[in-house]
Amino acid sequence: MHDFIETDCLVIGCGIAGAISSLELAEAGLQVLVVTRGENLTDSATDLAQGGIVYRGDQDSPDILAQDIMRTGGSYCSPKAVEILVEEGAPLVRKILMEKVGVTFDADDQGKLTLIREGGHSVARIAHRQDQTGRHLVSHLVRALSKHPNVRLLPKHTAVDLLTPQHHSPNPLAQYEPTTCVGAYLFDQEKGGEVVGCLAPRTILATGGLGQLFLRNTNPAFARGDGLAMAYRAGARVINAEFIQFHPTTFFQRDAAAFLISEAVRGAGGKLVYRDGTPFMEKYDPEWKDLAPRDVVSRAIYQEMMQRDLPNVYLDLASHLPANEIRHRFPGIFAFCLRHGVDISQELIPVVPAAHYSCGGVWVDEVGETNLKGLYAVGEVACTGVHGANRLASTSLLEGLVWGYRAARSIIDRGGTSRMAWKIRPWKDMGRELPDPTLMNEDMNTIKHIMWNYVGLVRSAPRLQRALKELRNLEFSIEQFYRESHLTDQLIGLRNAIQAAIIVASAAWKNKTSVGCHYRIS
Ligand SMILES: Cc1cc2nc3c(=O)[nH]c(=O)nc-3n(C[C@H](O)[C@H](O)[C@H](O)COP(=O)(O)OP(=O)(O)OC[C@H]3O[C@@H](n4cnc5c(N)ncnc54)[C@H](O)[C@@H]3O)c2cc1C
Repeated sequence: MHDFIETDCLVIGCGIAGAISSLELAEAGLQVLVVTRGENLTDSATDLAQGGIVYRGDQDSPDILAQDIMRTGGSYCSPKAVEILVEEGAPLVRKILMEKVGVTFDADDQGKLTLIREGGHSVARIAHRQDQTGRHLVSHLVRALSKHPNVRLLPKHTAVDLLTPQHHSPNPLAQYEPTTCVGAYLFDQEKGGEVVGCLAPRTILATGGLGQLFLRNTNPAFARGDGLAMAYRAGARVINAEFIQFHPTTFFQRDAAAFLISEAVRGAGGKLVYRDGTPFMEKYDPEWKDLAPRDVVSRAIYQEMMQRDLPNVYLDLASHLPANEIRHRFPGIFAFCLRHGVDISQELIPVVPAAHYSCGGVWVDEVGETNLKGLYAVGEVACTGVHGANRLASTSLLEGLVWGYRAARSIIDRGGTSRMAWKIRPWKDMGRELPDPTLMNEDMNTIKHIMWNYVGLVRSAPRLQRALKELRNLEFSIEQFYRESHLTDQLIGLRNAIQAAIIVASAAWKNKTSVGCHYRIS
């Protein structure tokens, strides 16, 4: 066990939300330690974002955007949070992304941004960089962080648990104080399982989502609910966890990994069709058709697949956009599908829905502060209330930007980052043996199947009860396994995955009303 690392601010995660907070804090003169689980600092859901980020269109206004967010969110959105996003979002895209970090979005010959429209948006307002907006964005952010003298970057480190004197002090009387977060235990993936403690007066949790809990999903490998489970164990309040958004269109081929076919493809005229080319969205939503909100489109596809016993449906872009424009506007999607034998400029694209985004998460206020002193949460792991019961397309990058910035400003404005002498127990590895990867893979597969089949697009009381019973049994075995084994990144993830799965399934079971992306038949 090393000595504890000390810093002014610990930021766990380096997607858009964590990176924006870190940059702002560092510029204000605070020492920031940025920890990421990935080998590359850019490994994140942010890196995969295709469609773009909400900006401001012609004939657009904060009020119109707010109406679109609220309508999609099923009256579950926090009006205060939505107001913050619609008022501050577009100016921050300009001030931070374009002017400070140097991000450039697609524009016409006159330099005017070519904004696109996606499902649920009443005007074209999404700024994008072809179909690789996130990659462009996160590479600029990581470059800015790498150059900053106040930032220390620590890749290949997995946060294991948040530190609170209430749980980790050698003094038992600490439990009588209000819960305070004072940093985290960090697992060094390179040094054979060494765990270091990091002490910080402020910790920002920016660990992203939990799509990997579901068999079919669009998320990166680390999206296994680490942040949600860690915060929950520490005593943070979690809300709206039942609202898992399923993206209607991921590329389907039996042995290919799920790959997102961006909503922008339908924004560009793509239509959902049967194999014979007949469109079907009109019967589900005569007004918005293929551009209906994601929950409507996902359930329409699910219903078609169930009723007609189909493995997938199709997306037809080739009949609606010239081939050269398809190749130019969607180079990433074009290349991926071609590698798997489908030329999207000529052929129908086979698609199915997949788990995509967690609308709920760790409850935070307008500046990203949780109910634990010293702990902030930003980005997909947090629940600001912006998305309510269902997220409007391309608002998550914007939310990460706005709350990443606000959390940092709150820490800077309040001061109080002076380091204190906390007494925290050093990490003690209780395990003797390395865990068996085969057992861990099988347990993870079981979680994914349970979540996909019983806590998926269409939920019912018997399915949710079955899910909870099986997940709780598995949790008992995994916890025992965790206590007896030597720590590995996979084991940390498995323990977090089972706990996050139970949080989602319990929330889905408790909420008997169908709303937004939570749909119950009983
Ligand atoms: C395929 C795809 C396409 C998308 N397209 C769009 C889009 O066009 N527009 C839009 O607005 N949104 C889009 N989204 C959603 C959006 O990308 C995410 O919601 C957003 O990027 C989340 O940002 P974040 O900063 O919260 O987390 P992420 O970008 O996911 O970053 C999480 C970070 O946390 C780290 N981490 C996780 N666990 C640990 C741990 N235990 N210890 C240490 N580090 C850890 C990871 O290494 C990573 O650095 C898309 C998502 C996907 C998956």
